[in-house]
Formats: sequence, structure tokens, C-alpha cells
Amino acid sequence: MSVLIHHRVAAQAAARPDAPAVVCAVGALNYRALDEHANRLAHHLVSLGTGPESLVAVHLPRSLDSVVAMLAVLKAGGAYLPLDPAQPGARTARILADAAPDVLVTDAPGDTPGPVGTTLHLTHDAPAIAAHPEVTAPEVPVHPDNLAYVIHTSGSTGAPKGVMVPHAGLANLVEWHVDRYGVGSGDRTSHLAALGFDATVWEVWPTLASGATLHLPSEVGRTQPEQLLRWLTAEGITVAFLPTPLAAEVLRLPGPSSLRTLLTGGDVLTVAPAPGAAYELVNHYGPTEATVVATAATVPAGTPGVPPIGKPIRGVRVRLLDDDARPVPDNAEGELCISGTGLARGYLGSPRLTAERFTPDPTGPAGGRVYRTGDLATQLSDGTVHFHGRLDDQVQLRGFRVEPAEVAAALSEHPDVVNAAVAVRSGLLIGYVVPRSGRDDSGDLPEAVRAHAAVLLPQHMVPARVMLLEEIPVTLHGKVDRNALPDPLPAVPDVVVGPRDAVEAMVAETWYEVLELSDRPAHVHDDFYVLGGHSLLAHRLAVRLRDLFGTRLPLHFALTAPTIAELTDELRRLEPAPGHLAEVAERHRQVAQLSDEDVEALLAQLGDA
Ligand code: ADP
Repeated sequence: MSVLIHHRVAAQAAARPDAPAVVCAVGALNYRALDEHANRLAHHLVSLGTGPESLVAVHLPRSLDSVVAMLAVLKAGGAYLPLDPAQPGARTARILADAAPDVLVTDAPGDTPGPVGTTLHLTHDAPAIAAHPEVTAPEVPVHPDNLAYVIHTSGSTGAPKGVMVPHAGLANLVEWHVDRYGVGSGDRTSHLAALGFDATVWEVWPTLASGATLHLPSEVGRTQPEQLLRWLTAEGITVAFLPTPLAAEVLRLPGPSSLRTLLTGGDVLTVAPAPGAAYELVNHYGPTEATVVATAATVPAGTPGVPPIGKPIRGVRVRLLDDDARPVPDNAEGELCISGTGLARGYLGSPRLTAERFTPDPTGPAGGRVYRTGDLATQLSDGTVHFHGRLDDQVQLRGFRVEPAEVAAALSEHPDVVNAAVAVRSGLLIGYVVPRSGRDDSGDLPEAVRAHAAVLLPQHMVPARVMLLEEIPVTLHGKVDRNALPDPLPAVPDVVVGPRDAVEAMVAETWYEVLELSDRPAHVHDDFYVLGGHSLLAHRLAVRLRDLFGTRLPLHFALTAPTIAELTDELRRLEPAPGHLAEVAERHRQVAQLSDEDVEALLAQLGDA
């Protein structure tokens, strides 16, 4: 069997041309159509100069077109660089400037998002693409060591870094996956990840290499557990990947009956399937630098605590090394280092960084390399690996890998900021900035810095709060002293005064939601500004409360009533629109599952009973 993934997909097209390959809400492609569209586009890419080792950026949302385009790049012998158009344009431009792809495939209106050789616009260039033959693919000799894709991850040097993955690594992942999970023509799998993440690689290629059907959800509800479950059920998905935080939420709900395997990974898993669950849950661990998956373990139903990340998958070796690159004994903690077929070639355009992280393998054959993950782990004598955390500052947020240094670099780019640092506090990403002296102090700098970050960084990397500091604390060695960075949120007081009636409870729920602090215990004397509120959030809260209570709450309320208790009093004083409260209470009964007595009490308190 060829190790080249596009050959495996072509073999499926030849064997079962009419079988569904990719399905989404607006259409579907069977294997014949997928193959033919990709052949035409591949011929066109070859005519533009694409071949082994050339890079083609695929700047498309998750769609039938994006799947065709990625396949076409491989058929043309090139490597694809997936870019999600939903990412901020400034980051896309930075990645394009770093990677300098020969061609960019897009369908977006407007200018090319960054410097590239040639732009291929799927709509504008459709006639030229359609003129190419569709039955056969271009004959391009591709070697397993040639690059298949390049994916950018968050970089500790302040800029995203491109991980170069060859065909051999991709083929190893796909072969292991198809065998391990027995994926075949009867399977329906999901494609939920956005294009710029390597989970996409894992969702798409094992499916198409094995003749199964790839299902794409619409954007709406992709991250909402209840809606996602409805979609998985409606599509009859049999094998799905969900990043750890989403999998943890879905596991609490009754699973879709069609599902036989739920794959997860990306962060520390703390839940197991309920006893009697109809599907298998498998925890996976792996950095982008080791082609998505390095270790895997089934999580038995009902097991408490944090499960292991499992044993190395076929073709991958895991070693735990000490600071001097010597293997540590069984059960001792060491840095998790990976070697084998799955290793990436290194970082695009960065030999220094590559040499730092991909080092000579001290225990393998001469010339072998290990990738030093920066993860701390222990390994039992049977090979099972337990994850213990990071050696450096890298964090996982909602399943995404974030280098605080990259976020700090973006914050520092604001003209009124002279220095910045980033840390995680109470589960939130917090930015710390030192303002330029002599700056016009309007008090809005934290929000302006956040807005600035949102233009440069993907949403999951934008700090939830920005705090002003006079200086960034440093250690004796001159590194940022993360432990000395304050928590911008005051500790929950020893004596918490919870909501005293249903109105206060409703206000509190909305109040913490707007502050993105829903997990914090409600304390009616918490202060809006102390907890990070600002004018924009005050406006948002006022609009939500007006809608909820039908009152004309002034937009400046937060100045006069900064606590939940004061705000609730203010609301009680305001005249509600007639009849509105009964409707509100009813809506709230459903959402907050209030009892009949609660609703009656609520109406009485609001004076509308
Ligand atoms: P992926 O998107 O394949 O998860 P990333 O390169 O984005 O890979 O992130 C890899 C890092 O995520 C690992 O080095 C590790 O710190 C963390 N990680 C991944 N999977 C797990 C897991 N199952 N348990 C704990 N941490 C994990």
C-alpha cells in the first residue's frame, strides 16, 4: 500500500466512486466527485509551478472546497499550509510573510491576505481550473520524506512557528488510526476543527483514506455541547474527535446512540464515561511536532481521577530524559521526548529553534532525533505514560496551545505599552502591561490593549483581562517572575452573601456572565469594577438587564450601583413595562429551571403578581 495519502484516497475513489466522501449542510461530494475536482485543481496548481517541497496556502473555511483544495495540493506534489479565514488578518499576514507560500488558494473577496507568489481564487479562476483534465491526477513523484503540510502553532519567541510535517509522519498516523479504530466504509466521522489546527489533519485523512464519510457541521453550535450532540445524533456519527474541554462537557450528557468511539486530547482529562456508556473514550496526547498523536489510552468507564495519556502509538517512541538528556528510571519524572516516524522535519525557516527542540537521540540509532516536548511525565515499566505538566510557560486554554510570550509580544505592540507579560490566573489568560509614561490617562488603556490584541491574535489567545502594572516583576535571572504577577481578581471573600431572592439571583447570573466569571460564587456585594468591569461591559450588562426586566435601566447604572445588591435595588425602583415581567419570569423558569413557587416569589418581588 502506498504511504502517500492522496494515493490512498484515489484508490477509494476507484473502488467505490459513488460512496459519499464529504457531506455538509449545503451539499456533498462522492468519492468520484472529490477525486475529479481535486485532479483538476491539482493540474492547475502544477501549471502554476507547484511540486514537491513547494508550499500552497489554503485560506478557506471548513467546507467541501477546503477538503478538495488540501487533497489537490497533495496530488500536485506540494505541501499545504491551512489558514482559517476567521483568524485576524494581521496574524494571517504574519504567517504568510513567514512561510512565503508559492500559491494561495482562497475564495474570499478583497485583497490577498498577505505576501504570496500567486493567488488562485476559486470563483474567479473557476473557468481556468475547469479546463484541466479530471480523470487522472498529475504524475508527480513524491517521496515519503517530502512535506505534506505545515501548521503554525503558538511560538515562545513571540511569533507563530510553522511545523513542517512530511508524508511519512502523516501516513504513520493514518495507518495506525485506521487499524486501531477499525475505520471503514460504514463509518461517519466529524470534521469540527478549524483549518489552522492539526486536529483537522486527524479528522480528514484517516476518514478519506479508509472510504468513510466526513461530515462537516455548520458553524452554529459547533462548540455548544447540547447542539453538538443533536448534530452528532442527526448525522449518525460513529467516530468523533472533540478537544478535551468539549469532550468533558459532552460526557456529562447522554451520548448519541450511533457513536462507538469518542476521541479526545489536547489537555488534561479529568472525567471518564459514565458506567454503561455505549461508546469507548480514548485519551490522546501529542504535539503538532509529532504529527498530532504520540500516545493513546482507552479511559475505562467510571474511573475516577486523571487517566494516563497511555502508550506510544505504532511508529512512535517515547523516552523520558533528564536535563542532561539521560533516560530517567521507570516511575521517575522526566521530560517527555518523542522519536520515530511521526517526527516533524522542524520549524519552517528557523534552524536555530529546530536545533533547540529536535536534538540527537541519546538512546536510538546514530543520526536519530528526539523532539523535546517541554512536557513533564512519568512512565511505568509497562510503557504507560502519565502527564504531569509543563517545564516552561506554555499553557493549554480551552484545548488550544498558547505561548504567553506570543501574547505578550502582541500586547507590547500597542503604542502606549512599554512592557508586557501574560499569565493564567483563575483559569483566565491575564495580560499585564506597563503603560508608557506621560501617556494621556483616560483610564481606558486595558480595554484598548485588549482590543489591539484581538486584531492580532486568534480569539483563544486574547487576554480576558488586562491589568496595568508599574513594572513587570522579574526573577534574579532576569526572567518574568510569573508567580509574582498578581491575580487581578480579588479572592472570594470568606463570608459570601449569596443572592437573597430570585430577582437578585437573576441579576447575579447575568452580571457574572457578562464579566465572564460564571464559575465564581455569587456574592451580592461584589463590585463590578473591581472584578474587571469597564464601560463596554457595563453597557452590555445594561442592555441585557433591560431586555430581561423590561425596564429603562440607565446605561450609566454601574457608576451608581456597582454591586449586585445595589443594582437589584435600583431595578426594583424602576418602572417595568406592563405585562413584561410575567413573560420574563416564564422565560426564566425554563432557562433557570425555577419552580412554580420561585416564579411566584419572583413576580411578587417585582410587584407584578
Ligand atoms: P494538539 O493540537 O495535537 O493537542 P498542540 O501542539 O496544540 O497539539 O499541543 C500539544 C501540547 O498539549 C502537549 O505538549 C501537551 O502539553 C498538551 N496536551 C496534549 N494532549 C494532552 C493530554 N491528553 N493531556 C495533557 N496534556 C495534553
